Amino acid sequence: MSSTTARSRPSSNSRKPRLLLIGAGHAHLHLLHQRPLLSRFDITLVDPGAFWYSGLASGVLAGDHSPSTDRIDPAAICHAQGVSLVRARLCGLNTEARQALLSNGASLSFDRLGLNLGSAPALRSSDHQASGDKQTHWQIKPIPHLLRLRHSLERRFRRRQSVSVEILGAGASGVEIACAIEALGRRHQLAAGALTICLRHRGSGPLPEAPARARRYLLAALERRGILVVDSRHDRHCSASDIVDATGLGPPRGLERFGLPVVDGRGIAIDPSLKVQGTDGVFASGDCAALIDHPLPRLGVHGVRQGPVLAHNLIASLDPKAPLTSYRPPARALSIVNLGHGEALALYGNAWWGGRLASRLKHHLDLSFMQRTRNLL
Ligand SMILES: Cc1cc2nc3c(=O)[nH]c(=O)nc-3n(C[C@H](O)[C@H](O)[C@H](O)COP(=O)(O)OP(=O)(O)OC[C@H]3O[C@@H](n4cnc5c(N)ncnc54)[C@H](O)[C@@H]3O)c2cc1C
Repeated sequence: MSSTTARSRPSSNSRKPRLLLIGAGHAHLHLLHQRPLLSRFDITLVDPGAFWYSGLASGVLAGDHSPSTDRIDPAAICHAQGVSLVRARLCGLNTEARQALLSNGASLSFDRLGLNLGSAPALRSSDHQASGDKQTHWQIKPIPHLLRLRHSLERRFRRRQSVSVEILGAGASGVEIACAIEALGRRHQLAAGALTICLRHRGSGPLPEAPARARRYLLAALERRGILVVDSRHDRHCSASDIVDATGLGPPRGLERFGLPVVDGRGIAIDPSLKVQGTDGVFASGDCAALIDHPLPRLGVHGVRQGPVLAHNLIASLDPKAPLTSYRPPARALSIVNLGHGEALALYGNAWWGGRLASRLKHHLDLSFMQRTRNLL
């Protein structure tokens, strides 16, 4: 890990500084829009796959959207913007030597580095206590896991096998997943009792931070869908065929191998300029990064809002006199929970509303985001 704190100029004046972006997350996709940045740097993006947008993930699970609606392959964007793409994972980092080691064996040098690596389920599948040997455990990140879950359920629905699903965790993701599976079952016109869905919480009920009336609205919506809400403190027995872990997201696995400072359980330690603490020219954004004094929920919206700050600071970092700007997280953010069947619950601080309008707004915001990002093509 580099201990230099002064901002340094790239070593040679004859070439553009090399900006290495690891991970095609929200903030890095934003950078690929930015002409001033594209013209100042020689940019390489490293990602093993594609960008999957979590806002549309429950719609994909419910069968409302095709997987291609939810996915952006960075290859076409990179090609159009003159950015090199390497399909690989970051496996090692030497910030002193400014070298990144990739899973394909390549070692790339950089002058500036961006890390936008996302997050991983906080629990490993092996952490779950299975009460049956025929249980299948599903994780909700990366998002393609939810597509695999949909295909697995659909195979069994077509064979008219009965299925029981337990969702562990009744936050926004758990609620969305329960409702999406119910909507998928409805789409397959299952016989009564063929699909059981149970949403487990640890005593505080679904969406514990939502206003009390919004929670009552939600409980009524879950009941109408036949989704059982269970308090794990009173009922620990679980005999479901499928268990979905929606208990929360944590930092990407194996962060420690990069030798960067981390905030325990939260991610790579960054200051408000998104610069990794104690490094020179290394930035981190989105779910993988932890603002030292300001814990944030893992939401795509922070990655989106950090994009412009990151773009500005990467350029400013080339000039030792240019001030860096700070990311100021919003005090509250709009969150719209998809309940399926064209219904959603919108939450903004203490304000909330539920119904078709909320669902239409979510649909509009999600599809506009994807459209804006794809318009680079
Ligand atoms: C079911 C579900 C629904 C959600 N709904 C919402 C919602 O409605 N609104 C909201 O704001 N948030 C939502 N979230 C949270 C949201 O998914 C995350 O906060 C968001 O995806 C984080 O974005 P990011 O830009 O940090 O990383 P991501 O968008 O996850 O991108 C990370 C990228 O890094 C790449 N990567 C990872 N490791 C490496 C490596 N070693 N080398 C190279 N590349 C790597 C990955 O391939 C990926 O492309 C939801 C989450 C889930 C699970």
